[in-house]
Amino acid sequence: MTASTSLPLPQANWSWFLDLDGTILDIAATPTAVVVPEGLVATLSALRSAAHGALAVVSGRPVQQVRSLLEPLRPAAAGLHGLELVTPDGLRHGAKKPLPPVGNLRRNLQETVSVIPGVEFENKGATLAIHYRQVPEAAPQLRRLVKIAVAKSRGFEMLEGKMVFEIRPTGIHKGTAIREFMSIAPFCGRVPVFAGDDQTDEDAFQVVAEAGGITLHVGENDDTTAEWRIESPAALRLWLAEAAEALKRRM
Ligand SMILES: [Mg+2]
Repeated sequence: MTASTSLPLPQANWSWFLDLDGTILDIAATPTAVVVPEGLVATLSALRSAAHGALAVVSGRPVQQVRSLLEPLRPAAAGLHGLELVTPDGLRHGAKKPLPPVGNLRRNLQETVSVIPGVEFENKGATLAIHYRQVPEAAPQLRRLVKIAVAKSRGFEMLEGKMVFEIRPTGIHKGTAIREFMSIAPFCGRVPVFAGDDQTDEDAFQVVAEAGGITLHVGENDDTTAEWRIESPAALRLWLAEAAEALKRRM
């Protein structure tokens, strides 16, 4: 069985950028309930070797969470939609420009959404997420409340993900993180490939497309600018495993 016949043939000169939730991991009922399937870390490790280290995870989660989920891989990673960056040598980079203070907005939103049972408020530090997977019917009310609170704050924007409203500083996103990775070794001079599943990945698709790279959307959603489609995280994992194998054979 092959992952897909309608995907590009993996090349040795690619830089691999992978979103985590909904892309290489199946989405779970809550962010803490995700399961890292057996073999995934080995696949990523093999792929990273075949790409001479050019592999990074690009997630909305904090980098520390990404790395602890994928122990013992310790991948290069961008966290909080690009606010945090850890290079392959393990060096940590914060945001390049001062971040707007999030305190008031956080308090405001936490209080506002606490009246809706089943909504999970996630404080990620410089960014926030409001999950409503347990109460999808609350989406319209929540959307309205979150929009009002975000509009009143300066320097933040709301993005709709899958059963989640993400609130992040404006102008920093997964695309800016990939651009930063592409300016340093071992990523620079390679062709970027980015796989993602969500609205928050569209900025990255745009940056990668502009750089002449490969954009790959995971899942059913048709509302994407990505060039290539793959139906599920499981299918993507299979394709990545096959890519690692094929590239190793050609080394
Ligand atoms: Mg995702």
